[in-house]
Amino acid sequence: MIGCTCSVCTSEDPRDRRLRPSIYLDVPGHAALLVDTTPDLRQQVLTQRVPRVDAILFTHSHADHVLGLDDVRRFNFMQGGPIPCYASAATWESIRRTFYYAFDGVRREGGGVPRLETHDIDGPFTIAGVRVVPVPLLHGSMPILGFRFGSVAYLTDCSAIPEESWSLVEGVETLVIDALRTKKHATHFTVAEALDAIARIAPRRAYLTHMSHDLGHAATNARLPAGVELAYDGLVLDARVDAS
Ligand SMILES: [Zn+2]
Ligand SMILES: [Zn+2]
Ligand SMILES: [Zn+2]
Repeated sequence: MIGCTCSVCTSEDPRDRRLRPSIYLDVPGHAALLVDTTPDLRQQVLTQRVPRVDAILFTHSHADHVLGLDDVRRFNFMQGGPIPCYASAATWESIRRTFYYAFDGVRREGGGVPRLETHDIDGPFTIAGVRVVPVPLLHGSMPILGFRFGSVAYLTDCSAIPEESWSLVEGVETLVIDALRTKKHATHFTVAEALDAIARIAPRRAYLTHMSHDLGHAATNARLPAGVELAYDGLVLDARVDAS
């Protein structure tokens, strides 16, 4: 956290150095998908040496999930075309305002605007044969989306899972879920609330994400139940996705 000298912000443990939340799903022979374009996108794709992005999925339009969108220009250039992007209609409305110059059709001197092919999410869909199941979540009062890809589900930024969404994550083996801190928050699960959701979904393993500096990596892991741990930047997981 900017300006903070607490033990987590000054920790020597690299897992305590957290950029904004995002995942990259590489499905060999199909597509490489990016979920959200954080303000740290450039640093993330450089550090992880991400070679391509075939499609982008957005969970919601908060700044910490979209403000790196401009940097996908480099992928446009390398891949020679627009990138298909998927979001709910409400998320698009906001992204179109924030990145007006990518959508207004005005030619800009020098060129450089991100080229995006927009798709509205209104149910399960496939990208290059990879099945994507959107999972409606509540982020405070704001409806947002988590995503399920076969055996793995990514549920960031949620404070409640609506009744009709539980069946969408049934049988998930690897779950990544929001847990901001210990103290109650209006728009994010606490660790206890995330653990309740994990108990109900019963994945084989669960990873907490979107933590604040209240949660140090090693100390928090030490008190989590078996099969649950904090995610960290650069964490790589294997998963089975539905692809045809
Ligand atoms: Zn701190
Ligand atoms: Zn958010
Ligand atoms: Zn967020």
